[in-house]
Amino acid sequence: MAVAIRKAHHPLYYDLAGIVGPASVSDDDFTLETYSRDTSPLPPNKQGIVVRPVNTDQVVDIVKLANVTKIPIVPSGGRASFYGTPKGLHGKGIVVDMTRMNKMLKVDEANLTATAEAGMTTAEFNTRLWDMGWDVHTAYMPWYPDTLGGQLAGFAGGGNGMEMASAGFNATHIAGVKVVLPDASVVQTGSGAGSNIHNTMVYDRYPGNPDLTGIFVGDAGTFGIKVEATYRLYKLAPHKVAGAHLFDSFEQAWDLFKEMSILEPLPYYHMVIIPPTESTKVHGATVKGIGVDKFIVMWCAKGNSEKEMNAKVEIIDEVMAKHNGVRGTGPAVEEWVQGTLTGRRVREMGAFGSMGTWTFFEYFVSRSQVLDCRNGTREFIYRRLKENGITYQSHEGCIPSGANTWIITTIIFLRGEDKRAQQVVGELFADATEFACSHGWYPDCHQGWGTRMMAKNWPKHHYEFMRKLKGAFDPNNIMNPGVWDL
Ligand SMILES: Cc1cc2nc3c(=O)[nH]c(=O)nc-3n(C[C@H](O)[C@H](O)[C@H](O)COP(=O)(O)OP(=O)(O)OC[C@H]3O[C@@H](n4cnc5c(N)ncnc54)[C@H](O)[C@@H]3O)c2cc1C
Repeated sequence: MAVAIRKAHHPLYYDLAGIVGPASVSDDDFTLETYSRDTSPLPPNKQGIVVRPVNTDQVVDIVKLANVTKIPIVPSGGRASFYGTPKGLHGKGIVVDMTRMNKMLKVDEANLTATAEAGMTTAEFNTRLWDMGWDVHTAYMPWYPDTLGGQLAGFAGGGNGMEMASAGFNATHIAGVKVVLPDASVVQTGSGAGSNIHNTMVYDRYPGNPDLTGIFVGDAGTFGIKVEATYRLYKLAPHKVAGAHLFDSFEQAWDLFKEMSILEPLPYYHMVIIPPTESTKVHGATVKGIGVDKFIVMWCAKGNSEKEMNAKVEIIDEVMAKHNGVRGTGPAVEEWVQGTLTGRRVREMGAFGSMGTWTFFEYFVSRSQVLDCRNGTREFIYRRLKENGITYQSHEGCIPSGANTWIITTIIFLRGEDKRAQQVVGELFADATEFACSHGWYPDCHQGWGTRMMAKNWPKHHYEFMRKLKGAFDPNNIMNPGVWDL
């Protein structure tokens, strides 16, 4: 008679079940596999157990347990990152899945802030506030899986939203965060509740103390687990419009960007250069109106009145014309432009969503590095794909995050289950990260492969400073160890 052999439970299984209840802890292989990957083709990092707390007290108890047993924690949001899941400790680490902490806690209209638990998705946070007439700066995409805490921790500058071209990094629009530190104490950052015992509001970062919020943005969760986040509210603009202009070359479109992006005030809130690729065809670019070989500059403008919005469009048209940009017209342009305006195109990712394995090669650079980075990464990526005879589709973009920082993106799509192609793209992704870092270009994510590569290129003094900080915050090294290999 065959005897089923039951795998022994993780050493903390019963302790963790005691904290969150048995239904919210799992150490079975199926669950661990699920939590071992993000969206990237990079190798998985499999931990030993997954726990799903529902409030801050439970997070505190989990962190205390990790300190006593010296078993490390890997915080987890939507796992929508694309540089690989954090290392943790193979077969042993505790994944703390934050997605059950998903409540809206306070919409403080008088002080223009909204506070939610850090496991709430950006989609829910935004749509609930939009319904109330307010706007916040969170994700551009991926819209549905991203959590507030995961985006603030895992992406450069706390991420980039739909208005990144004018609003810059989301971090600028955060009033404060509540964090369970690696020693299990809880800190609220920001002015008001964060720095004055007589004040219960979180409304800004600066009065009353140095800005402590920033240290928990882009920290990959290595300085603590964010349990709440307070965002600044902005009134939703009643009038919005979008358009597209066509250019003959990237250089021509880039010259336009250089001029347009320093206008004060900015006439646009969204602007992106989209070079001609297979994906522009997928998006309808073969239809008359958008030239297949043209570089498309897509833009959006808004106003409190139609008059204000139209005045901005007039400025945009004028600067575009000065740089020989020609207005794209026709149904294909209109469909694309409307999808951009509502955000539908990026939320659903259009045809991309169903195209199988794919990954992002995406780097942050300064203005003077844009051309080098675009040309360098394209050459690096496409040459390797050609040498290996890989069939792929690609999409490219160049988009500002404020006027100073620019994001250069190449996305590679592979159809079907071509294992060799997946392997080549996986290796290429890792090598391209190294290549980018060695040229002074920043991968945008703050965990996994990207962070480890970045740390290798830190100046010694920066490395030492980070190491000291990590040691002070986390003497037992239990909070997301290995993120920067400190
Ligand atoms: C196709 C695609 C497009 C993207 N485009 C954009 C974009 O336009 N703009 C943008 O901003 N981002 C974009 N991203 C990146 C994405 O927003 C980030 O990777 C983000 O970090 C994912 O959030 P998450 O909740 O899934 O976090 P996870 O992937 O689960 O975690 C990311 C990191 O944060 C840590 N972490 C998670 N939750 C917490 C917490 N509560 N406290 C502390 N640490 C925590 C994790 O340990 C990990 O180190 C894109 C990603 C994809 C796949």
